[in-house]
Amino acid sequence: MKNIYGTIVVAAMTTLVAWPGSSAEMMMDNWAKMPTSRHVFSMSCKVTACNGDLSTPEGRAKAIAWWKEHGFTKLWLESYRHGESASTERLIEERDAFRQAGFEVCGMITPTSLSDPRPGDKGRKFWVTCWSDPKARERLRAESARAANIFDTVILDDFLFSSCDDSCPRCKADMTVRGIADLGAYRRTVLFEACERDILPAAKKANPKSHFIIKYPCWWRRYEQRGYSPARQATLFGECWVGTETRDANPEPIQACWIMAWMDKITEGRCGGGWYDALDCGPEKFVEQAYYTILGGAKESFVHCYDYLIAENPGVMYESSDRAHACCAAFVLKAADLRKLADFVQGAERGPFSMGPDGVSTHLFRKDGKQYIARLNTKGEPVAGLPPHGFELKEFKGELTSVHETP
Ligand SMILES: [Zn+2]
Repeated sequence: MKNIYGTIVVAAMTTLVAWPGSSAEMMMDNWAKMPTSRHVFSMSCKVTACNGDLSTPEGRAKAIAWWKEHGFTKLWLESYRHGESASTERLIEERDAFRQAGFEVCGMITPTSLSDPRPGDKGRKFWVTCWSDPKARERLRAESARAANIFDTVILDDFLFSSCDDSCPRCKADMTVRGIADLGAYRRTVLFEACERDILPAAKKANPKSHFIIKYPCWWRRYEQRGYSPARQATLFGECWVGTETRDANPEPIQACWIMAWMDKITEGRCGGGWYDALDCGPEKFVEQAYYTILGGAKESFVHCYDYLIAENPGVMYESSDRAHACCAAFVLKAADLRKLADFVQGAERGPFSMGPDGVSTHLFRKDGKQYIARLNTKGEPVAGLPPHGFELKEFKGELTSVHETP
């Protein structure tokens, strides 16, 4: 795949930024309006935390103090994940306690471990849903209704994608019945159907005010093949979010910066914010994701999650709590700077941005009649006047002719 990403030539501030090469190559507008509302820092709390630390007044008081100290004003409480639930009574108690403490509180569902074992799999359970299993859809309807009864706004973690193929007898038979030969087309059909006929009607029936949000993962190149169709689905839901969790393995860290604007464009303004986490990354990458989520124009930075960062027990996942706690410590050191950057970006105009061949990204802004340059070093050594993983934002006077050459 051709990658033309990274080209920025600024001449009289009128040049376009090229999007990553893809079948749907996009061009971003020269200058984009950044959010005008105050940037929100929010954090999710997995079922494990809701059933653990946050289930007692003492645990909640500790968490509240931490959130307040580090600028968090909104929480997402998870009701279901991997077959484990937090009870309705418990979630209501926590919701009310956090609201009392001044937080905005919403719900979250991670749609995993919903399917019965596939025929022939002898009880082997999968996290990823087999959408041709009517039981999975029934379970998701029930959980959607339950969450909608507790929270007006609920976000769906990005486990709605499908991994079923010919090896799943149930999906294979369903493809035949529906007359769909292409696997991606089949997955998009059944997932859209589950959203349209199961999740949303069940939620609306339980709570007419309910607002469900679909969150997309960071791996945008595989959306369609895995069953996601953002433009169509976001219209159905009314709002979507996108992952800025580039983690250590992603060779294009600045993706965390452009993916929200791209998602906002393809969903006609329905992208609500960026979500990053402490999985598969060290502290520097975790903080880099935080910077890029703000620089990319998110209205809200959704940090996933309390369990990884703060709790002793990170929950059912593959993460090491030591590594995640190191991410938390790094975030704490930068929390005030991130707030400052978010306040700067509010109401600004964002210009071209690019990753340079030296691993330093450059971002142009205009605010209150002045021009600014932000630079972030993604390398572990000093580069171009910046310390390892250093960041700077400064006023820029004069005219730029070139920020970066094409890598
Ligand atoms: Zn299947």
